[in-house]
Amino acid sequence: MNAPRPGLKPLDDALAELLGHAEALAGVESVSTFDADGRVLAQELVSALHVPPQDNSSMDGYAVRCADLVQGRSHTGLPVSQRIAAGSSGAPLAPMSLARIFTGAPIPPGADAVVMQEDCEVLADGAVRIKAVPVPGQWIRRAGEDVALGAVVLSRGERLTPASLGLAASIGMNLLPVVRRPRVALFSTGDELVMPGDVAPEQMKPGSIYNSNRFFLRALLLRLGCEVSDLGIVPDRLDATVQALRSAAENHDLILTSGGVSVGEEDHIKPAVQSLGSLDLWQIAIKPGKPFAHGRVQNAHFIGLPGNPVSSFVTFLVLVRPFLLKLQGVTQLATHSIAVPAHFTWARADKRREFLRVRRNAAGGLELFANQSSGVLTSAVWGDGLVDNPPGRTIAHGDTVRFIPFAEVLG
Ligand code: AMP
Ligand code: MG
Repeated sequence: MNAPRPGLKPLDDALAELLGHAEALAGVESVSTFDADGRVLAQELVSALHVPPQDNSSMDGYAVRCADLVQGRSHTGLPVSQRIAAGSSGAPLAPMSLARIFTGAPIPPGADAVVMQEDCEVLADGAVRIKAVPVPGQWIRRAGEDVALGAVVLSRGERLTPASLGLAASIGMNLLPVVRRPRVALFSTGDELVMPGDVAPEQMKPGSIYNSNRFFLRALLLRLGCEVSDLGIVPDRLDATVQALRSAAENHDLILTSGGVSVGEEDHIKPAVQSLGSLDLWQIAIKPGKPFAHGRVQNAHFIGLPGNPVSSFVTFLVLVRPFLLKLQGVTQLATHSIAVPAHFTWARADKRREFLRVRRNAAGGLELFANQSSGVLTSAVWGDGLVDNPPGRTIAHGDTVRFIPFAEVLG
């Protein structure tokens, strides 16, 4: 007897449930700061020094003692008592003298401002006349103004960016403790699938299509810091599916598949996963992307994405991506959307929450790709993001909608 058809699960419920299964991977490795972009920090970084280490000049000019320069009375010039370039350090500034100083050089003791060279005049005898009287602190970058000694510079669970690598380097870190990469086995199901390169377009048999999901899923996984074992195409047979899953479970944290998660006769993922472990097959209330499966095969997580390319792409972004980040201990998992005016209309409201492929135009609005079918991957290339449209909502030209730029979710 057939089990009762479960209702469609709201995306937020599905995500919460999925994240509930994603316990952080144990295992920390030390990697060169050069190679840590995109990795997740396993321990907080505390600075053992001030950055910058000393007060220093933010201009090429002259370090002065403000009290030596009397407001409202142009003076005849002060002698230059020393020269301080970046990388050196000066002596205490002698009273009634100036120090020639360059950007990044430490402020000499006694000086309390820098006058930029454009506001100075070098006189015939080598003395320097200050044309604009400074206020104390002018053009001085204070010690510790970027990072104070003892400050937490980067937190555990933060994903490293190019800027954070620079910041880590600025406190002297050449190696960083990061969470180990998730090991992901990827395979595609479907007897219709052919690999580009194996068969030329003009030789394709009727009914065959090229395997496109394999390419974008692999690239998305790599961008998320995963180690990917690409296990290729598994035929639509129960025994082959069971065998592929069993061997993949041995040494992977996650088995990710596309296709075969509907409940058609050729969809073997469900019985195969059930025979080896456990499976929840969800019908998620989103469009595109309704069928989605999560379960376990031995010690590995299992996630089955729909076969339709856009469904596969969107469900990866909204579900698999946060799951993989949580596995790596990332704490900030929310996807930020921004309010942008729609420069299109969307008259057919759907009962499901929709993720429409759109792109920004020069007028600051969003345009819609004409064909929103779940098989039309061109929409995801033409587009530069998704409109997250609530269930039952039509969109009129000029309405404010929630926009998720691909830049937010493709890394
Ligand atoms: P399925 O979920 O297996 O029923 O597949 C749904 C649709 O997606 C079918 O039209 C498949 O041919 C197509 N499809 C499945 N897997 C892939 C893939 N790896 N690349 C491109 N299209 C696919
Ligand atoms: Mg199939």
